[in-house]
Amino acid sequence: MEEDTGDRPSTNGTASTVANPTANGCSRRLDDDEFERYSRQMIVPGMGKEGQLRLINSRVLIIGAGGLGCPASMYIAGAGVGTIGIIDGDVVEISNLHRQIGHATFRIGLKKVDSLIQHLMGLNHLPKYIPYPFHLTPQNAADIISQYDLVMDCTDNPATRYLISDICVLLRKPLVSAASIQKSGQLIVLNCPPAPQGSLTPGCAPCYRCCFKKPPPPSSMVSCGEAGVMGPVVGMMGVAQAGEAIKILASALHMPPQSPTDPPERNLHQPTLLIYTYDLESAVGPYSFRALKMGGRKKNCFACGENSTLTLEGIKTGNPDYVQFCSAPTSNVNLPPEERITAAAYHAAKERGELPGHILLDTREKEHFSFGSIEGAVNVPFGKLLMKAAAIKRDGGAASEILPPAESGKGDAPIFVVCRRGVDSQETVEKLKELGLDDQGKRKIVDIIGGMRAWKEEVDPSFPFI
Ligand SMILES: [Zn+2]
Repeated sequence: MEEDTGDRPSTNGTASTVANPTANGCSRRLDDDEFERYSRQMIVPGMGKEGQLRLINSRVLIIGAGGLGCPASMYIAGAGVGTIGIIDGDVVEISNLHRQIGHATFRIGLKKVDSLIQHLMGLNHLPKYIPYPFHLTPQNAADIISQYDLVMDCTDNPATRYLISDICVLLRKPLVSAASIQKSGQLIVLNCPPAPQGSLTPGCAPCYRCCFKKPPPPSSMVSCGEAGVMGPVVGMMGVAQAGEAIKILASALHMPPQSPTDPPERNLHQPTLLIYTYDLESAVGPYSFRALKMGGRKKNCFACGENSTLTLEGIKTGNPDYVQFCSAPTSNVNLPPEERITAAAYHAAKERGELPGHILLDTREKEHFSFGSIEGAVNVPFGKLLMKAAAIKRDGGAASEILPPAESGKGDAPIFVVCRRGVDSQETVEKLKELGLDDQGKRKIVDIIGGMRAWKEEVDPSFPFI
């Protein structure tokens, strides 16, 4: 490998040293290893040696070392970003490995950040890797994020998403945010180029709150662990995230314009929400991408709008309360004690023969149900049950039609409802009562407290709870 003497023309015809490669006054040459390692991407139009040097001088924080963070960090490391921080408080579990491909079977039990950095070191030892083996919190977020040029949100938790976005607004950091659940994923670049809080000049990029003012309803807030996720779907979103981050850093889109000669379009970013859906049940045309154009910064945004009162100090001291804002997945339904029973008490009553002819409704998804269920249970997934209830209300059908045909004619047989963790089942009891299935209190409709998780804990430790 020829030494980079500084006078060799680079691939785009400029000198091989760049006076201002990071647009922040840092000048540096590529050494032989770097030159050879990154040559294939440096010859791509638009990258060049300038772009490579900007990457080398950049600092990226990856929040989450899971299904998004693994592929995202691999491409960020491979591309030669100079400093890579990774934050995650979890340890590697076997159920992670189908999608979290930066870990390994022999590293189960290790902190995810340590496991992933081991993999990344093997891929490219040149970047500086900084592990944060704990979760991001309102107390530590600003101190950590302030040390980086760009943030990648690779989490699966709505409360953390809002926290990350708010801090990025206040610290003026570009944010590449992705999410994936079950068979779909989404990606958006936020806060890029960063503008001061309250600034509404044309072209100001939105923050996460501008695009998603409210968190998803608590009943739909499930993590990958609960709802399931396909590896290639989350992987695709992580790779796309890395692509966007590399583009921003190599083009210095995250920096303010340095000179009047900077082309004005460098700062223009049309916020676009990329949505990927993956139809597992269709053999033909199994994927689709859609790009939704999003608006710019919202005047009345809680975080970046002109009257925002959000501050770093406030966040640190619990204002706003992110957990409450996104409310943990608990039921809003307040059933009286006689309409609830523990899994152990239900089991005991059944064993004593006190529940002849009762109906046991299991409202989990059919995939969960197929892995195991309580003997005699019938499956009506919660989402389908809600749709049926709405149709009965709208079209005026018989309330008993909400039950499977074999159960609908059982008159006043008591109904017990079980779900995965005991949230949907409470709402189901409420819904069945609303439809009048309780016959004005004459028919018992009862929630099994804590769902199948409680069943495993209280009754059957061998139950395959997933
Ligand atoms: Zn905003």
